[in-house]
Amino acid sequence: MKREKVLVTGGAGYIGAHTVVELYAAGYEPVIADNLSNSSEEVLDGIQKITGVKPVFEKIDCTDKASLESLFEKFSDIDHAIHFAAYKAVGESVERPLMYYGNNLVSLINLAGIMMAKGNGSIVFSSSCTVYGQPSPEHLPVDEEAPLKPAQSPYGKTKQMCESILEDCVNTPKSDLNVISLRYFNPIGAHPSAHIGELPRGVPQNLLPFVTQTAAGLRKELHVFGNDYNTPDGSCIRDYIYVCDLAKAHVAAIDRLRDKKVRGTSEYFNLGTGRGLSVLEVLDIFMESNNVKVPFRIAPRRAGDVEQVWADPSKANRELGWVADTPVEEVMRSAWKWEKKIRCV
Ligand code: NAD
Repeated sequence: MKREKVLVTGGAGYIGAHTVVELYAAGYEPVIADNLSNSSEEVLDGIQKITGVKPVFEKIDCTDKASLESLFEKFSDIDHAIHFAAYKAVGESVERPLMYYGNNLVSLINLAGIMMAKGNGSIVFSSSCTVYGQPSPEHLPVDEEAPLKPAQSPYGKTKQMCESILEDCVNTPKSDLNVISLRYFNPIGAHPSAHIGELPRGVPQNLLPFVTQTAAGLRKELHVFGNDYNTPDGSCIRDYIYVCDLAKAHVAAIDRLRDKKVRGTSEYFNLGTGRGLSVLEVLDIFMESNNVKVPFRIAPRRAGDVEQVWADPSKANRELGWVADTPVEEVMRSAWKWEKKIRCV
């Protein structure tokens, strides 16, 4: 049977690379398009070590419509795309909003335009739980019906705008574009082989890379931003989802789009575990699972942090036949194994 191609923009990045591995495992033929602005070609070697296949890779900037069009000419049988390519640092987006609007919106507009002109296409879009802001207590855990709140950063706004742009594309008369927007909660961990994982540039903005870098001695201590929130231990609560589980949800989304009989549809799914963990709980589980110490101190609250948010993933469990079920201890071990590998600890 001929393997179906799936375009993976941003496929050399953290979540993209893990998804490429799962696409191969499911029998698809991923085509990676990445400008390597936040990744490197070494990731392709990591993918090859896991899958035994040298991934198809095109160094392309998705904001350059002509390059993206020539990719579709070269691979004329691509009907499905997973769109990861974007900038993702919340703080940087506050400092450089135009860079974020320019990259995240133009990339999406180019891809959607080409897929619409081509016809019969499907897009899986990387969205984020940031679209919900701080949900009110009656909306916790957050399901897809929870109201979208004004985003706190230009990054968050690009996610809301991209979702709206795709919705408008689907709603044009005679549109045959099918879209699934996946709203990720907090992806963590690395492939169990430690051939691929998260490679933050500079000071990590997310909790777990900061934890692993502190454990490895790269950082003196971890700052827990606030212990006076209205949560059981006072620190913020998030829904941490294993990146390999998250990657499998993309395969489930592509399967669903491929099987669709109706065209011109748009769907949203929350991807999380359904369980909130506080910062202090994450620290404890990490130290316990890996038998390693992480020095930390309580610091003042950080501006813009949401107090608590976790997912109700039941729609994704039901409709995609997918569940994030890797034990969190295993996820913590994968993160530490990866950090030790890249730091040669
Ligand atoms: P990442 O930075 O590791 O991966 C993004 C990839 O896209 C990188 O390889 C980068 O080089 C590439 N890229 C960026 N702009 C591009 C462009 N114009 N053309 C081609 N390639 C381009 O990020 P990630 O953590 O893997 O995130 C992937 C997607 O998931 C992003 O859209 C991000 O906003 C979204 N997301 C991430 C998280 C998270 O915590 N990691 C949470 C929610 C949503």
